[in-house]
Amino acid sequence: MTPDRDIRTTLEAADLVDALREVVAIPSFEREEEVARWVADQLVPAGFRATETPFQPGRPIVAFRIGSGRPELLLAPHMDTVPPGDGWDTDPFALTRKGTRLHGRGASDDKGPLVAAVFAARALAEAGLPRAGTLTVLCLPAEEEASQGVRAFVREPVEADAAIVCEPSDNVPCIAHKGLYWTEIAFEGRAAHASQPADALSAIEGVRLALDDLPAFSAELAKRTHPLLGPATVAATRIDATGPWNIIPSRATLGVDRRAVPGENVDRIVPEIAERVRALGWPGEVSARLVEFNEPAETDAAEPVVVAATAAASDVLGRVVAPAGFTASCDMWVLRNHASVPTIVMGPGHLAQAHKANEFIDEASLRTGALVYARAAERFFEISG
Ligand SMILES: [Zn+2]
Repeated sequence: MTPDRDIRTTLEAADLVDALREVVAIPSFEREEEVARWVADQLVPAGFRATETPFQPGRPIVAFRIGSGRPELLLAPHMDTVPPGDGWDTDPFALTRKGTRLHGRGASDDKGPLVAAVFAARALAEAGLPRAGTLTVLCLPAEEEASQGVRAFVREPVEADAAIVCEPSDNVPCIAHKGLYWTEIAFEGRAAHASQPADALSAIEGVRLALDDLPAFSAELAKRTHPLLGPATVAATRIDATGPWNIIPSRATLGVDRRAVPGENVDRIVPEIAERVRALGWPGEVSARLVEFNEPAETDAAEPVVVAATAAASDVLGRVVAPAGFTASCDMWVLRNHASVPTIVMGPGHLAQAHKANEFIDEASLRTGALVYARAAERFFEISG
């Protein structure tokens, strides 16, 4: 048989649902080591070599490699999930079928993509691929904690020539995502007893000024538009001015979630907010502080990994697939911007399911995903080998 037929036959016969059941049963929102052991059980007997990068106790970063030399392609799923949360109709750690849907925490984000990537890699290895170059399954922890795992991974030089960040995208290759910048704006005023409001400079009034300015700020950001991602945005997400009922507060903060598009000057995101709030005419002190961020990222559509993944998705899905934008943030920007690896986001499952009660993946999406990964990798090694 040709490797192509081999791989399809192997993946069609593979018990992906049972595998997903095993991985979903491992709670991995604080420790990922058991997931890493599960991956090792699948890949090491097939000839993959495991290399661990230290991160935190019980939370390894593990690269499983087969083949040698360049080019090297990374398939990079994350092993952690968000905590189960409330509102489930079934046990979030017991994969439950309802029709074509498989419910469980991580079914779409990110254990479905992880299982699909592991099975695709193993099927490729069993078919004797890659003939030249290295295929690596990079299992990352702490993606849900501001991509800390991949941030630790890129502290050492990364040799890879391309990466597919395995996240739920309905198997469509995504070549760009927005950045997020959580910024706390703090207003300082003068406290007074609530019975003497004339003596106060209420910090809450500062927050009001900033909120009143948001539509104008949004309109300005709307001019910065990316063809795949739409406009840059800003939204108020937190207000804090807690204190006694009878005291007008001297301090109040407004939290804003600012989404940046590729091409924006990321060094200017917070200074721009700071300048804007200083121009509000607030008579007291005002400051802007970055609390957390993920940069925006984009990969050129002409990169071999994009060409390979687009051809693979079109072939397997049976329709013309065009590269899209990914609406959430993920590990892509760290590999793309800080390790200079041409990176895309692609995987089975549905982003709308991520982080929700009753999270599910469609069985067909999971099965298709494994084949898309295998075909994309095969094609990548063909065109860049
Ligand atoms: Zn994810």
